[in-house]
Amino acid sequence: MNGTNGTTNGTGPTRVPPPRAWAAIDLAALRANVAALRAKAPGAAFMAVLKADAYGHGMVPCARAALEAGAQWLGVATPEEALALRAAGLGGRVLCWLWTPGGPWRECVAADIDVTVSARWALEEAVAAARAAGRTARVQLKIDAGLGRNGAQPADWPDLTRAARAAERDGLIKVTGVWAHFSCADEPGHPSIDRELGIFREAVDRAADAGLEPEVRHIANSPGTLTLPESHFDLVRPGVAMYGISPVPQVGAPADFGLRPVMTLSARLASVKRVPGGHGVSYGHQYVTPGETTLALVPVGYADGVPRHASSAGPVLVAGKWRTIAGRVAMDQFVLDLGGDTAEPGDEAVLFGPGDRGEPTAEDWARACGTIAYEIVTRVGSRVPRIHLDGR
Ligand SMILES: *Cc1c(COP(=O)(O)O)cnc(C)c1O
Repeated sequence: MNGTNGTTNGTGPTRVPPPRAWAAIDLAALRANVAALRAKAPGAAFMAVLKADAYGHGMVPCARAALEAGAQWLGVATPEEALALRAAGLGGRVLCWLWTPGGPWRECVAADIDVTVSARWALEEAVAAARAAGRTARVQLKIDAGLGRNGAQPADWPDLTRAARAAERDGLIKVTGVWAHFSCADEPGHPSIDRELGIFREAVDRAADAGLEPEVRHIANSPGTLTLPESHFDLVRPGVAMYGISPVPQVGAPADFGLRPVMTLSARLASVKRVPGGHGVSYGHQYVTPGETTLALVPVGYADGVPRHASSAGPVLVAGKWRTIAGRVAMDQFVLDLGGDTAEPGDEAVLFGPGDRGEPTAEDWARACGTIAYEIVTRVGSRVPRIHLDGR
């Protein structure tokens, strides 16, 4: 980061002010992670999961990088996300799965997006969209194998598959996939895993009995891709692992799976000053300086995705050492006690990254805040620019 780029304003090169905070996104790492994950599931197609702005990493650049690395499919939760991928000019197959009645079914069918159907109302909306768009809707049917969220209950599966087959015969839809989502794949050996695989296999067989011939059958998320070869079927759908985060931190760190964290979150110190002992720090004075010391102000807060639960807990690398946040995380800022060390306003504070420079990782933050690393990266706020490195 050098704070300048070649931007011009018509009167000559202008200096771009150095950002207050930024999330550097290493697209070369993302591509390498896709390659590592594809190698774990060599017989399966690869769906890059890009929901929630690519877990906070920036959806479009990450989608492009994933396609370059060989992903054939892009997966998102909402139809709006799917349409945004197409609006950005991205090809490849796109699947979305989180619908509400009256959603943009026709727009998705027209944009050649595969839509997920878990219930009769959704099938009816997909069929109506196919009629309105004047083309066959590509539909994937989802079974609830035990997660208890979306997906048809096994008891409703025969009815749904029969109705889908009838719509197929009418030329209105093509069932391109049958899929499910695990409840506890991140706990290897959990008894639900085999049970859910069994329910999924049964649903696949019953769909075939109904006359459906889906291109892809899939259930594997990141933990399934990395730890359960029997879950790979025709396609794997990794999300968090593609961003270089271990989905099973109790089993292994990213490097143990050949993965490298993609996001580094940094900010520039906004203030460095000496204060006397006994000085309260941040709202509520949860921290009081134990003696004369140097306080550094880091200009990111919960509005930027730094959890308030990181108060007096979150680790940050400044001036070569890990510091623990002093007192409360506020909306826009938090404070570090540098003790006897010195730093300058403008110096970089690294909240998390791959760890090569000695900085904490997203997993360290998750542990400090009682959450999972998924949430740490995904919550980074829209006020923090994503700087995509090594894009092509
Ligand atoms: C989020 C999501 C994934 C990816 O999960 P990870 O654990 O991040 O790999 C896969 N499938 C569905 C349906 C999802 O919602």
